[in-house]
Amino acid sequence: MEEKVYDLNTVVEMKKAHPCGTNRWRIIRMGMDIRIKCEGCQHSVLLPRREFTKKVKKILENPQKEA
Ligand SMILES: [Zn+2]
Repeated sequence: MEEKVYDLNTVVEMKKAHPCGTNRWRIIRMGMDIRIKCEGCQHSVLLPRREFTKKVKKILENPQKEA
């Protein structure tokens, strides 16, 4: 699978929804680790980039694509 580049503020859907029932996560920090925040309850999680890439299902909102 190709390596995708994610931008800050991209909203993604993960393979597993958060226990709060929401499956919308906003990328709030990029680096070696990626911090994502649940749009439902504002809980944030820090994931190593490799793990994030494995767990992400699809991009819901890409800030770069906004007209
Ligand atoms: Zn949540």
